[in-house]
Parts: sequence; C-alpha cells; structure tokens
Amino acid sequence: MKIKLLPSTIDAEGRATPDQRLSCFVVDDRVAIDAGSIAISLSDSQRETVRDVIVTHPHMDHIATLPIYVDDLFASLAEPVRVHATEEVCRLLERDIFNGTVYPPFHKFRNERTPVMEFVPFEAGRRFRVAHLTVEAAPVTHIVPTVGLLLSDGRSTVAFSSDTSATEDFWHVVNRAPRVDALLIEASFPNSLSKLAEVSGHLTPDALGAELRKLAHKDLEVLAVHLKPTYRALLVEELARLGLPRLSAMEPGREYEW
Ligand SMILES: [Zn+2]
Ligand SMILES: [Zn+2]
Repeated sequence: MKIKLLPSTIDAEGRATPDQRLSCFVVDDRVAIDAGSIAISLSDSQRETVRDVIVTHPHMDHIATLPIYVDDLFASLAEPVRVHATEEVCRLLERDIFNGTVYPPFHKFRNERTPVMEFVPFEAGRRFRVAHLTVEAAPVTHIVPTVGLLLSDGRSTVAFSSDTSATEDFWHVVNRAPRVDALLIEASFPNSLSKLAEVSGHLTPDALGAELRKLAHKDLEVLAVHLKPTYRALLVEELARLGLPRLSAMEPGREYEW
C-alpha cells in the first residue's frame, strides 16, 4: 500500500514546505483519507483516479478543499465523488458545508452523465469496502464525532488515528488485526501544552508514547502526523526523545510504501 500525505503549505517561491496545515492522505492514487488539501495538491493523474474520499470528521483542516475538488471536476466526472463518513458526519457536512450558503449542495446535483457527489455512510465497528480497500472505523476521542481507521489492501494493513486524545476503542480494533505494517498517529502539541492538547482532543509526544503502550503490535513503522506548524521543530525533538527506533514525523509529499 502506498500512502502520501499531501503537502498543504507553499513558500513564497511556490515550493511545498514540510508544514502540515491541512490533512489529506492519498492511498494508491485511488482513495483519499480526509480532504484538507485534496483540491490543491493532487497530481493531474490522481485527479483522474481519486473518486473515493473517507472523511474522519468535519473539522475544516480535514475537509477544507473537498467542495472545491467536486467543483473543479463537476463537468468532467463520469462517476460521482463518493464521500464515505459516518451517518452523523455526512449530516454535518450536508448541514454546515454543502448547504447552499457555504457551498452548493453537490449531493443533489448532476452533470450530463452522473450525480457529481454522493454521501456513502458507514458504521463504526463494521468492515466496509472503499475501492480496493477493506476499511474498519473506530470512534476516537476528539471534540466532534471522529473515527480512526484501519485500512487493508489484502497484503498490508495501515492504521490511522485521525485527531484524538487518549482513546480506547480504536486500539481494540487495531489490536484485533493479525498484523499492522504502519500506524499514522497524531501529535499536535508539544509536551508543555498538554492541558490544551487534552481539552482540544489532541496528543502531545508524551501522550503519544502512552498511547503506543496500548498497542499490541510491535515492529511496525509509526509516523507522527498533524504536527502544528508553529511547534513542528520542537515536536520532532520531543518525538525523538521517546527513543523509539521506528517512530518519525511523516513528511508531506513523500510516498511511503508497506
Ligand atoms: Zn479535528
Ligand atoms: Zn485536524
């Protein structure tokens, strides 16, 4: 399985920087996990192939350019952009984003060939298919309804925590998998801001270390994501201090394969 965290920040010369302000991961050029930077950082060929988007929760950094993506593709789509999310999150996106005020209700529109966007609800705790992937979602601990994901292509398995503070259900789902090749887990705030991290439903490097002790799998690659750009250098330092050989900060724009 190939996964790339799309870059979301460019410098004054137009070059991508390692700062991650928006969340969007592309899996095997086919499926997007969250959609923060989907409209601005996909390659032209990925724009032809990514028609499935799994939305973990409705925070802006995870959906910011989803409406723009559907808008861009409107005339050329031969099949809808499918937005996979829990029923609750589908309703929130309908109410707060695709509401005719913030943006058009694309789930009610079609071009000459096809509806342009479709909500495809899934239930946490039940396996479902998205393109070539088998996916299981589990609730995590954030300030809005949010799920973490376990993704498998039949050969490798990757877990993604999405945004969370200390959590339980997600680890049960991850631990049940026979093997996990990689874990993408958030580390938003430095250790000195642990109170802020807790009330906003996020982890610090130390809290991430504590979460990893709930993980039954060993020897998997662990990539920290969702590092707040203001604290990126400090977060990288604090993550290194955990002394875990296979833990590093995920680099936007780099393709990882398991
Ligand atoms: Zn969030
Ligand atoms: Zn977020």
